[in-house]
Amino acid sequence: MQVPAQFEYERATSVGHALELLAKYGPEGRVIAGGHSLIPMMKLRLARPEALIDINELSELSRIEVVGGELRIGALVRHAELLESAEAGRLFPILHDAERVVADPIVRNRGTVGGSLCQADPSEDLSAAFTAVRAEAVVEGVDGTRVVPVREFFTGPYETAVGPGELLVQLRLPIRDGTGSAYAKVGRRAGDWAIAAVGASLRVDGGVVVEAGLGLTAVGASHFVAVEAEDFLHGGPATPERFEEAGAIAAAHCSPAADQRGPADYKRHLVAQLTTRALHRAHDRRAG
Ligand SMILES: Cc1cc2nc3c(=O)[nH]c(=O)nc-3n(C[C@H](O)[C@H](O)[C@H](O)COP(=O)(O)OP(=O)(O)OC[C@H]3O[C@@H](n4cnc5c(N)ncnc54)[C@H](O)[C@@H]3O)c2cc1C
Repeated sequence: MQVPAQFEYERATSVGHALELLAKYGPEGRVIAGGHSLIPMMKLRLARPEALIDINELSELSRIEVVGGELRIGALVRHAELLESAEAGRLFPILHDAERVVADPIVRNRGTVGGSLCQADPSEDLSAAFTAVRAEAVVEGVDGTRVVPVREFFTGPYETAVGPGELLVQLRLPIRDGTGSAYAKVGRRAGDWAIAAVGASLRVDGGVVVEAGLGLTAVGASHFVAVEAEDFLHGGPATPERFEEAGAIAAAHCSPAADQRGPADYKRHLVAQLTTRALHRAHDRRAG
């Protein structure tokens, strides 16, 4: 049986208290949310925090609400809660597409949006989805609050812009008329991590793409973004031919690695197909 090394346990009662505890333990303290990524890493001794700071009682981080033209999702919102939110699904169908294929109900009942983003696993589905819709991450520390575009949030595999002593508190998604979104994933079996997946957000005005967002999962895309394909789409007609070409561009510019989930050329093929498919779905779902 694998067991973690010994650690202190502290239960935060407010965001301010969590920040105090983070300051108290310094780099040896670690936030625990759903625990679905951190606990396995501790059992394998890949992580050995001296103290766990439990944020599960911070109900202020569990809200999903529309404020001032934005959908705001608290960092402690569980995958299952996001999936149950009719408003989130209506405004950003990409979120429901992605949440439906994150792991299994057991993981979704406990795992959190904030934990997924802070884990920054290159295979995390929500990272690409939030990248596609150009979300912003709200990060709080003892010195104040920072708003970081999700496209600048991921600084490398398993690394984020959340600094020592800071907490991710919220995701903010801009709501724009004429926008549709979708997420398409291929895994080896139900509940598995992606072989490859693509999130697309498309805003069209008079048949012309005025904003395109493309996030790629598990294929070595820098910051999860398919920026060359986005640039290609921007300002051009929203047609099937252009969506197919965007898929080819996204596939050509990502850097998938061959592993137990498949060879690199197969993953590249998936990126091309899934990009085109997600763009079609996003286009069909435009609202407002
Ligand atoms: C069997 C299994 C299958 C999975 N399959 C998938 C899948 O197909 N797709 C997918 O996307 N994910 C998958 N996951 C991951 C799942 O989505 C986890 O819930 C997620 O990775 C972590 O969320 P958590 O709340 O459990 O985070 P935790 O494990 O509690 O924390 C993860 C990391 O984030 C930090 N952290 C957490 N919250 C904050 C915060 N608010 N501020 C600062 N730091 C924070 C922690 O300190 C830790 O370093 C799977 C997990 C398991 C166990």
